[in-house]
Amino acid sequence: MFDKILIANRGEIALRVIRACREMGITSVAVHSTADADAMHVRMADESVCIGPAPSAESYLNKAAIISACEITGADAVHPGYGFLSENAAFAQALEDHDIVFIGPSAEHIRIMGDKITAKETAKALGIPVVPGSDGGVADFENASAVAASIGYPVIIKATAGGGGRGMKVAQTASELEIAFRTARSEAKAAFGNDEVYIEKYLQRPRHIEIQVFGDGKGHAVHLGERDCSLQRRHQKVFEEAPGPAITDAMRARIGKVCADAVARINYIGAGTVEFLFEDGQFYFIEMNTRLQVEHPVTEAIFGIDLVREQIRVASGLPISFTQDELEINGHAIEVRINAEKLPNFAPCPGKVKVFHAPGGLGVRMDSALYGGYSIPPYYDSLIGKLIVHGRDRPEALARLRRALGELIVDGVETTVPLFHALLAEPDIQNGDYNIHWLEKWLARQLG
Ligand code: ADP
Repeated sequence: MFDKILIANRGEIALRVIRACREMGITSVAVHSTADADAMHVRMADESVCIGPAPSAESYLNKAAIISACEITGADAVHPGYGFLSENAAFAQALEDHDIVFIGPSAEHIRIMGDKITAKETAKALGIPVVPGSDGGVADFENASAVAASIGYPVIIKATAGGGGRGMKVAQTASELEIAFRTARSEAKAAFGNDEVYIEKYLQRPRHIEIQVFGDGKGHAVHLGERDCSLQRRHQKVFEEAPGPAITDAMRARIGKVCADAVARINYIGAGTVEFLFEDGQFYFIEMNTRLQVEHPVTEAIFGIDLVREQIRVASGLPISFTQDELEINGHAIEVRINAEKLPNFAPCPGKVKVFHAPGGLGVRMDSALYGGYSIPPYYDSLIGKLIVHGRDRPEALARLRRALGELIVDGVETTVPLFHALLAEPDIQNGDYNIHWLEKWLARQLG
């Protein structure tokens, strides 16, 4: 087992990893930018190193500075959290070259899944059902228009190098294709430095269902069921739950096995998430994330398993500490992402937090790096906390979420908490009756 782990991240996820390290008796090292000198992750870790100025490109994305921090502190391994360098194959490779363990999959697997076309081809070859679409990239408009005509409208044009919900354009009809194709390409070029795009059938009312998988790197893998993350704004998740309200035990067992078998076959190591759109009882692969997800706590809640501890264990060469047969779903869990944003436009709202009071009680978990007197810097993501509730069933989880949101106090900055109070009053949310377009339509109605 490792003696010392460096956490190449900030905010709540850095705390999450530090907590796992502490329970395992592993020394933790925080890294931080100059803007984060007073951040909670720096205070909570056993050691800390400043790695650069405020902009992430010069600090949290600065591979050389992070590797130097490992060398200075003698860290054996790096946990990348999510975002930043978590899906950066060159970073995973550079660590390996310096004999430092990357707590995550191999550089090769990150590379395969990071390119969405290769990922889709790989998924298909491994027996995972995919969304109908182009075979690989579409080179020009003529090609795009032939593909779109053959799969049928509406279609979605997606950037091969896309991520974070960016680089996607929908064409409802043939007349919209040219502009969608050209803007998708130029946006992809600007955002990811790569203008390759591909085309998929645009599904009308799917749910976003993702399967949590876990491999030991030696040909064994398990799945930990699904999360329904359909409530999205601008393709970004805001509310996630497990188990999925529309997924039966038989569906879970079937798609879970397909995913676990696929990752076992490629000797995948660590946590991964296979993302699907789900419509009319069918699953369609969209992408695989080769890291811990923001929403991992809902899975932890229903299975009673610490996924970060498991990541650390398998990265150090130990086997997965449970078998597929030992996994049993217990109750229902929901997570809401609380952002420092001002409604109704979701404008980032950094600033000084005067008072912070986290909710508590049975079945309530608040993952946040806030504290009273802390100034949220303007340079990073606006996520300031995740509230996760667990109940014996979905109605109990919903009631608990309402109660816990009522206890939460974040004074000094605007947050997205009022959005969740409003959502909980909606019959569709109470009934679990929603798809990936529900939230955007609802928001448009609130504004209209
Ligand atoms: P990213 O890597 O940017 O998150 P994804 O491929 O995971 O991109 O897609 C993000 C979201 O975009 C999905 O959860 C879904 O809401 C929407 N989306 C992606 N592909 C399609 C599709 N073929 N049809 C309808 N919606 C889609």
